[in-house]
Amino acid sequence: MGQQFDLLKVRLNEISDVNHAASLLNWDQETYMPNGAAQSRSEQLGTLSKISHEMFTSPTTAKLLKLAAAEETTMKNAKKAAIVNIAKRDYDEAKKLPSEFVAEMARVNSQATHAWIDARRQSKFELFAPWLKKNFDLARRAADYLGYTEHIYDALLDQYEPGMKTSEVTTIFTDLRDQIVPLVHAIVANKDRITDDCLHGQFDKQVQEDLAKKVAAQLGYDFNRGRMDYTAHPFCIHFAIDDVRITTRIDETMFNTMFFSVMHEVGHALYEQGISHDYDRTPTGTGCSLGLHESQSRMWENLVCRSRESWVYFYPQLCEALPVFKDTPLETFYKAINKVEPSLIRVEADEVTYNLHIMVRFEMEMAMLDGSLKMNDVPEAWNAKYKDYLGVVPENDAVGCLQDIHWSNGLIGYFPTYALGNLISVQLFDRIKKDIPDLTDQFKYGEFSALLAWLRKHIHQHGRRYLPPDLIKRASGKNLSAKPYVAYLKAKFGAIYQL
Ligand code: MG
Repeated sequence: MGQQFDLLKVRLNEISDVNHAASLLNWDQETYMPNGAAQSRSEQLGTLSKISHEMFTSPTTAKLLKLAAAEETTMKNAKKAAIVNIAKRDYDEAKKLPSEFVAEMARVNSQATHAWIDARRQSKFELFAPWLKKNFDLARRAADYLGYTEHIYDALLDQYEPGMKTSEVTTIFTDLRDQIVPLVHAIVANKDRITDDCLHGQFDKQVQEDLAKKVAAQLGYDFNRGRMDYTAHPFCIHFAIDDVRITTRIDETMFNTMFFSVMHEVGHALYEQGISHDYDRTPTGTGCSLGLHESQSRMWENLVCRSRESWVYFYPQLCEALPVFKDTPLETFYKAINKVEPSLIRVEADEVTYNLHIMVRFEMEMAMLDGSLKMNDVPEAWNAKYKDYLGVVPENDAVGCLQDIHWSNGLIGYFPTYALGNLISVQLFDRIKKDIPDLTDQFKYGEFSALLAWLRKHIHQHGRRYLPPDLIKRASGKNLSAKPYVAYLKAKFGAIYQL
């Protein structure tokens, strides 16, 4: 028995190998590739993605899927079933979009990205507006191909967060906004209670890198199955369960830029390194969704590495690496790395204000999709929402509505996953603290293995086996809600700002 499954698995392994070869070319493009290779590299990537798409959507794959699925019902092997089911789901999704449409989208997205780069550099939104319209027109057509019952946005969101509905996101975000906006106002009124002066100075690149790597290894990142390099924008990428790499960037005048970006990417990497090897080289062998993935990066970055307990252990290491910190009490440092400040740029936002940046984008995407917001009015709408939610107004569009790459890349419906990740991280963490009552005390002794073991067991090993809402319910015992996150913010920042 299992013969049909084995044949399907060979096929899936080959397709996965082609995809990961493309990923490796992408990684190289971001890290070490000479600039002159840009043209040939984009052709190489185009060829590999064409080969992979043809292999995956071919009649051969369809036949293998059908035979393996029929065989599976008699075998009842949960892991094999997960491999067949996820491949089938991806196959059905891939077949919904006609290949001419996929090619058109790739072409327009790429042109739109070039227009966006130009528009951002000159801070001229009008250069990007026509392309933004094209991308939203394409998104609407994609949603029609993909199908939806309640809301057109469901079809787009489902690509990044399978099973999550727009109506749920709206409810969660409304709850969040009602609670967070007053909290931000209270903090702003008391902003002088915290300074992050100690994080500014001159911090040697090599010293920062060595420290970040040491801490990453202490958290559980396996450098024997990973490595760290430098890129303009930090990311995590995998080519196999035993090859999960991260990148970072350096600012020698600011301590927290590199350190926390490394711990964020380590969170993503721990997830990929923890997936069951049974799923390697199959579509099941990666994170469950963008929201779940972000929950892991945010948990290690914020709940672990911005906690007072972890710094009881790490601070002596920091003071040894960078002796200037010996003059700063741990408590001052702890408050500095948790400073809250409404700002214009999403990627630099603190834990309290971050989700407000996401809500602005979510609300604007909905309005652009249903046509109630005209493209020419985007900057004005953006600025009004920033003033309303964050009390800040961008002085130009480069630091306003042109700051993110997503809309130019056609990634519409993606932003909510960042906020969902924050929420999921705390909901899971609350559950873990119930299962391991001395969890955060363990951090004081540099003990993170119980946390990692819990995540491995309840989240990581499963890869894409479960739908996100099911995995969240299985692991935390509850459906996703904004309550745990709001309670966490109020407790932590209420104490820091003495509210
Ligand atoms: Mg991330």
